[in-house]
Amino acid sequence: MSVMSQDARAVIVIAATPTPNGDLHVGHLAGPYLSGDIYARRQRALGRRVIYATCTDDSQSYVLASARRNGVTPAELCAKATGDIERSLFAMGISMNGLPPIDDTYRTSVLDFVGRLHRDGRLRLRTVSLPYAQTTGQFLYDGLVGGECPVCLAPSSAGACEGCGHPNNFTDLLCPGNVLDRDEPVAHRECTILVLPTEEYRDRIEEHFAEVSTRWRPHAAQLVREILARPLPDIPVTVPGEWGIAAPFEETPGQILYPWVEAMPASMYATWWAAAQAGDERSELDEHWRAENDAELVYFHGFDNVYHWGLMDLVMLLAHGERYTTPASNVCNEFYELDHAKFSTSRQHLINSTELLQDAPRDLARFFLALTAPEYQRTNFDRENFRILIDERLTVPWNRLAETLEKLTAAVGGVELAVSPEGRRRAQAVADRFTVAYSLPTFSPALAAETVVQQLARLLDAAQQAQARQLPEELGDLLAQLSAVLTGAAPILIDVAQQLRDQGVVLNPSAPAAETIATFALPRLGRRMPSGPAGRLPVRN
Ligand SMILES: [Zn+2]
Repeated sequence: MSVMSQDARAVIVIAATPTPNGDLHVGHLAGPYLSGDIYARRQRALGRRVIYATCTDDSQSYVLASARRNGVTPAELCAKATGDIERSLFAMGISMNGLPPIDDTYRTSVLDFVGRLHRDGRLRLRTVSLPYAQTTGQFLYDGLVGGECPVCLAPSSAGACEGCGHPNNFTDLLCPGNVLDRDEPVAHRECTILVLPTEEYRDRIEEHFAEVSTRWRPHAAQLVREILARPLPDIPVTVPGEWGIAAPFEETPGQILYPWVEAMPASMYATWWAAAQAGDERSELDEHWRAENDAELVYFHGFDNVYHWGLMDLVMLLAHGERYTTPASNVCNEFYELDHAKFSTSRQHLINSTELLQDAPRDLARFFLALTAPEYQRTNFDRENFRILIDERLTVPWNRLAETLEKLTAAVGGVELAVSPEGRRRAQAVADRFTVAYSLPTFSPALAAETVVQQLARLLDAAQQAQARQLPEELGDLLAQLSAVLTGAAPILIDVAQQLRDQGVVLNPSAPAAETIATFALPRLGRRMPSGPAGRLPVRN
């Protein structure tokens, strides 16, 4: 058994904070939100205390740019998008208690966190040069400015490049243009801001990565090595801007907090809020994250945020000395594509959760996203493939197995069946495959989903043989193995898992296979899917 399954520490799972400038699309869901949910559900099933949370990042400059494009105010956009995001998370069965309100408690927690760094002398005043819109007199940062990445030369916003993941600050971005008004000339202008000097934390950053990088996926770990091979850029803590939390420091009058420095206190606030929804009322807002509580902290985010969630946020924690725990791992996904092109809200090249759930029940949608999750490289969503894969590999064999087992169950008549040593050994072998798929160094919802379909095909074959040779006494062994498959599938097929629990079936990944098993009915998988263009569904033999 792996160490993970015996870990008694509480788990804090944080999914990347969604920007409320539109609904979540299937690319987002297949990335951090579903993966984080699957991890959280598995850890709960192992008996661990899990808080799974996220928080909208309302202060991001992308809200300003999208609001301008949509002809609404930033506040209106935030309110609408937050509702849409919350509904999408709920519709997909993401096991969070909703999204916490961005209110005075939120702002106080951010100001406490950053204020402590200021008070402890961690911040430095720096005069830097920033892109500047000459006509409006506006400094441009992050999503307000677009140009070319200085590292890979791809089109990029300021802050970090979506393509190669490298940070770009201040004057780094090549050919900067004003996103709010493409025709407006952009110059550079000096201003004095507060920064957190990342280079001062290099030893501790390198020590941290020496410990955790074996738990990171290779592409993200490689990016961190590349970033560490260069001088580490200062983290802006304040910027001259209007949308965000006003910076309370007298050295930087009229500035706001740089939106990304809110991510850590926002995550602490979201953890506290989620725990409070579940009845855990701790007085100190950052208590769950304190080092002495020794929680296992795991982030789920996309490759485009490796710099932010991997490095910047780490430094924000390290700058508080020994006060906070640091992440045990960052589980980083690649991009999920739609018809072999990137999901894009501005080009409306996307599918959101509502559209996806019109095509299939929630369990099947979750299963397909898990099976095709972009874990190690870009993967692709297309609706035809969705229908074919789900039908052919999951629902058809599943429902045939259910039918065959029903006949065998009717033939034995008994309720409690014996499981042979070989049946128990096989059930344990299945359980071990899921332990690999759900444990951190090898965490892979795609491997878990693949294991489900492989085992399903094998059990269908075995059940059909038992039926053909009239050997209903094999049913006990079959049900023991099926029970291991269903326990492994439970974090993905959440509605099936609930139907099984309602029948009294125990889905406990830490329980060894017993010498007897009570018969149970395998719930049929719904196939509430439009049949698609005539003749395009596969013909079965
Ligand atoms: Zn780049």
